Amino acid sequence: MRTISHFIDNETAPGTSGRSGPVFNPATGAQTGEVAFASDAEVDRAVAAAKAAYRSWGTVSLARRTALLYAYRELLHARREDLARLITAEHGKVHADALGEVARGMEIVELACGIAEKLKGELSTQVSSGVDVASIRQPLGVVAGITPFNFPAMVPLWMFPVAIACGNTFVLKPSEKDPSASLLLAELAREAGFPPGVLNVVNGDRSAVERILAHPDIAAVSFVGSTPVARAIQRGALEHGKRVQALGGAKNHMLVLPDADLEVAADNAINAAYGSAGERCMAVSVVVTVGDAAGDALVERIAKRAAALRIGPGDDPASEMGPLITAEHREKVASYVPSARAQGAEVVVDGTGLAVPGHESGFFLGVSLLDRVTPEMDAYRDEIFGPVLCVARTGSYDEALELINSSRWGNGTAVFTRDGGAARRFQLEVEAGMVGVNVPIPVPVGYHSFGGWKESLFGDHHIYGNDGVRFYTRGKVITTRWPDPATAEGGINLGFPSNH
Ligand code: NAD
Repeated sequence: MRTISHFIDNETAPGTSGRSGPVFNPATGAQTGEVAFASDAEVDRAVAAAKAAYRSWGTVSLARRTALLYAYRELLHARREDLARLITAEHGKVHADALGEVARGMEIVELACGIAEKLKGELSTQVSSGVDVASIRQPLGVVAGITPFNFPAMVPLWMFPVAIACGNTFVLKPSEKDPSASLLLAELAREAGFPPGVLNVVNGDRSAVERILAHPDIAAVSFVGSTPVARAIQRGALEHGKRVQALGGAKNHMLVLPDADLEVAADNAINAAYGSAGERCMAVSVVVTVGDAAGDALVERIAKRAAALRIGPGDDPASEMGPLITAEHREKVASYVPSARAQGAEVVVDGTGLAVPGHESGFFLGVSLLDRVTPEMDAYRDEIFGPVLCVARTGSYDEALELINSSRWGNGTAVFTRDGGAARRFQLEVEAGMVGVNVPIPVPVGYHSFGGWKESLFGDHHIYGNDGVRFYTRGKVITTRWPDPATAEGGINLGFPSNH
């Protein structure tokens, strides 16, 4: 069994707190590792390392920072298979999906490689006689990131490349369920040449998070995880005077208008609902239909495809969907199927009885499809975060929009239609941060920011893209006068400075 440590000052730092937690291979159900949980003193050590590194890193030239980021990008590319294997071994998702996660994370490193362009600032000359004004953005200092289990490489990569490129140093607290990918990301940063203390990883649970929130030397916190924790993180960070962005959970609706190509819509619903076993914050969890004929036709098509999905271990190239993250999570996800049935939904596909031969102890759950789900049902009200797709029937576009906009979350949404006017209306009227038009999982590319509305995001900044750069920097405006000695006017004037 592997012992999973911290990474501080470019060195592996074995845990000393005496507290730790198990890491499983979800495909076998076997414990494969024991991850150290950081004490306050260990978090403090990581922050001290980051603080010491910031003194020089904050002033390292843009040319040097960029060169290191390019080297890092190349190493990630070279080691993407290793990263993907680590992700599959601890998270369970299939290898192709894990590779996709690494590629999407690398997009943010590529964005960070161009940081010089983003940090150019603004200059106005001769705003008054002999006076110029420059606006610049400077790093914050030590910043921290707290990340969820479902994207063990991509979500950390949403954060630290931009933060570090902007001149900050970073303390990452990954999910305790699948921490190893973060450690490999940090080791590769060392190999790329980042100085000690620029990127540190502390493993742990709630206790490490609480120390991060309270630590006086941490200027800002980025969080991605569930809504209740995101809300608490925002409150805790603000109490301690920190800048915070806390991305929470989701319940993403895919609206299928009756004119849509139903074969294409069914394919997309399957991919977006059951990919990564539904453990994606941008997963489609509710398909909304308009009109009974289109609804019946779509449900029939989704059910046919769902029944044919190949579920098995993520390292088997034949598997299309892997297991869930833990046994407890599987039981919770499975419980929504009988509860929806009892509350009046129609269970079209029931995946709760699935067994994967040879992997009986793995955390597998088959896919389920629940039709005629209504907003009072638990399956609709909660973020299930598993392979359970709900279908909600409506009679009109307006009714569908009302349903979607009544959700307490507003992360992603999608519309499937051939009608450009209807799609345009939806994209303007829907209350969500990311909208797909015939695109089921509209995760923005690295140079556009990612973020939801309502209870999917607590804070004012979305993550990565331009918002990421703004989040990890603060503005400064410099007003300069270099009077011409030939025309300089002296004298005392207590009036408010005016421009002339
Ligand atoms: P989680 O909220 O349980 O954990 C996230 C992080 O917070 C982990 O590092 C964990 O150790 C820590 N944590 C957990 N409980 C805590 C507590 N009480 N106090 C302080 N810290 C705590 O989330 P998860 O189960 O790891 O991830 C799944 C959730 O993340 C889903 O709700 C999903 O929608 C969400 N998510 C959102 C996005 C997004 O971009 N909005 C992206 C990925 C995942």
